[in-house]
Amino acid sequence: MIQLTTATKLEKQIAKARTMKPRVRVNCFGSYTVTNKQTGATYSVECLKQDGKRYAHCSCEAGERGRAGYHVAAAVAAHIQLASLRNEASH
Ligand SMILES: [Zn+2]
Repeated sequence: MIQLTTATKLEKQIAKARTMKPRVRVNCFGSYTVTNKQTGATYSVECLKQDGKRYAHCSCEAGERGRAGYHVAAAVAAHIQLASLRNEASH
């Protein structure tokens, strides 16, 4: 599990995600499939909240070692967007 603290920690990966432009498919809220368009490789990324802390997990090698890569950054971006849409819908 990767704990997501500040956005600045993910900044580098977010920048990389912008260059790589992976495809993010939403399986359900908190579960995403990220596809590397160049290689066609897919990774599953989970985002969850526990005790007020945000965590993510990626099925790639770096993710298994607890490091956030651009897959996580791309999925987290989609997750945040989805979460804000949900909040708006509940108001
Ligand atoms: Zn990954």
